[in-house]
Amino acid sequence: MESAVKANIERIRSAIAGAALRAGRKVSDVRLMAVTKTVDDDRIMEAIEAGIDIIGESYVQEAKRKIEKMGRSIEWHMIGHLQSNKAKYAVRLFDMIHSVDRMDLAVELDRRAGAADLATKILIEVNISGEKTKSGVPYEEAMRLVKDISSLDNLSIQGLMTMAPWFDNPEDARPYFKALRELRDRIIDANIVRAEMRELSMGMSGDYEVAVEEGATIVRVGRSIFGERPF
Ligand SMILES: *Cc1c(COP(=O)(O)O)cnc(C)c1O
Repeated sequence: MESAVKANIERIRSAIAGAALRAGRKVSDVRLMAVTKTVDDDRIMEAIEAGIDIIGESYVQEAKRKIEKMGRSIEWHMIGHLQSNKAKYAVRLFDMIHSVDRMDLAVELDRRAGAADLATKILIEVNISGEKTKSGVPYEEAMRLVKDISSLDNLSIQGLMTMAPWFDNPEDARPYFKALRELRDRIIDANIVRAEMRELSMGMSGDYEVAVEEGATIVRVGRSIFGERPF
């Protein structure tokens, strides 16, 4: 049976294009990541065949198996909480790590990246909402963390990542996306050497259109492509 993956991706791409147009942005400045935690290999392959070129995974072990099987013709990004003791694997496996939220993790990633002769691309995950259940550096400490991490030679800071709280109405997520963009702009104004700050990873199935209107450069979409995940 043909699954809906390809049609879903096409629908999401046109919604992203619409949101970019409304905001006066270039469609080519927004990339669609397919989030594939718990998704089986066949459906991931369908997404790749439909043109997806970034896959987001949340668990190192699950990602390792999938990357070994499906290869590196596409980018693999780490979006889940990362423990420092997995840093060694993470720098080898992932093209970008979106979930760097503390200095001890950054130091370990830097050390492992240096040992493997890599320059690992990272995003700083910011907990904009302050919800206790969310990971991410607190909003007020993000600038300091970017400055501290920018001194590490083997990490390349590409921008910021956040998860908005869950709302019935995606409009309610807008202030959180706007706050991440404004924080990014303040970091750019601070002229931190080696902090690139071109990426804003924000927006998921329920709220990616609003995120694009507010400046997202990578949206991370799972359920709207693959359907509900099993528990
Ligand atoms: C699961 C997940 C997503 C995708 O969420 P959906 O609601 O399935 O689109 C995005 N970002 C992170 C960090 C996730 O863990």
